[in-house]
Amino acid sequence: MVKVLICDSVDAQAVDAMRAAGVEVDVRDTITLDELGQVIGEYDGIVVRSRTKVRAPLLQNPGNLKLIIRGGVGVDSIDVEVAESKGIKVINTPNASSNAVAELALGMMFSLARSLAWADATMKAGKWEKKKLEGVELAGKTLGIIGYGRIGRMLAEKARALGMTVVAYDPYIDSPDLISLDELLSVADYVSLHIPHTPETHNLLGAVQFAKMKPGARLINAARGGTVDEDALYAALTTGHLAGAALDVFTEEPPQSEALHKLIALPQVIATPHIGAATVEAQERIGGEIVKLVQEYLAA
Ligand code: NAD
Repeated sequence: MVKVLICDSVDAQAVDAMRAAGVEVDVRDTITLDELGQVIGEYDGIVVRSRTKVRAPLLQNPGNLKLIIRGGVGVDSIDVEVAESKGIKVINTPNASSNAVAELALGMMFSLARSLAWADATMKAGKWEKKKLEGVELAGKTLGIIGYGRIGRMLAEKARALGMTVVAYDPYIDSPDLISLDELLSVADYVSLHIPHTPETHNLLGAVQFAKMKPGARLINAARGGTVDEDALYAALTTGHLAGAALDVFTEEPPQSEALHKLIALPQVIATPHIGAATVEAQERIGGEIVKLVQEYLAA
C-alpha cells in the first residue's frame, strides 16, 4: 500500500478522499523537522505546506520517498534540485490559491484607501476620529502590478472592473499592459507585488524605488517577504512620501525584530499573518489538487 505523510494542515475531505482511494495516510501536522527526518524514508510521498521546509539534510536518506507535494504556490521551501537528483518528484498546486490572494490584495487596497483597520482600531478604543479619516477612492486610480502571472492578472481583472487603470511590469512575459518598472513606479497610485522571491527580486523595492513612486502612493505586498526592503519602506512611510502599505508577508514570519515590529505598528500599515491563501475555498481547491496528484502518482 502507498503511504503518504501529511506534514502540515490539509483539508480534511482531501485526507478522506486519499484514504478512500486506498492510500495509507498519516496526518502529523505538528511534526518537527527532527521527527520528520526519522520517518521520512518510510513514506512514498509527503505533503507539505509553507511550515515544513524540506532542505537537503532531510533528504540525505530518502528511503522509499518518491514524491513531495507542496500544497500552495512556491516551492522555495523545498530543495528541489537535491530532491530531483535523488529521483524524488516535487509538485505544487499553483492555481488553487490565486483568487484568494488576488482578493486579499484587493481588500488591502480598499482598506488602505479608507484606513479601515485604523478606523476600526480607534472605534474599538472608544474614539470617534471621523475628521481624521478622509480617504480616497479606487475608481480612476492607477494600479501598478509587479509580476503579471496568475495572481497579478486576476487582480488586474478585478481592478479594471472597479474603474482602475492597470499597468504591469514583468520581464518574463509578453502583454500589452506591460511598461518598465521605473515607469510603473512613477504612474501608479497603488503598487502591488505578485512575484516570487528570488535573488533577482530580493529587495526589488528599496529606497531608490520608493523615491521614484508618486508621493502619496500605497504599496501592497501579498507575494513574498524579502521582495521589499522593510527598513526603506519604514523610512518612506514615516517621511510621508508613501501614504500606506499593506503587508501579508515578511522577511521573518512571525516577525521577531524590533525594526519589523516598528513597521507593523505604524498606523498607516496594515499587516496580516501570511493569510493570502487562507480561505475555505482555496484550502478545498488545494486539497482537491493534492488528491488528484496522489491519484496520478498511483496510476503511473
Ligand atoms: P506566477 O508564477 O504565476 O507569477 C509570477 C510572475 O512574476 C511571473 O509572470 C514572472 O514572470 C514574474 N516575475 C519573475 N521575476 C520577476 C521580476 N524580477 N520582476 C517582475 N516580475 C517577475 O505566480 P503566482 O501564482 O501569480 O504567485 C505570485 C506570488 O504570490 C508568488 O511569489 C507566490 O509565492 C505568492 N503567493 C503568496 C501567497 C500568500 O499567502 N500571500 C499565496 C500564494 C502565492
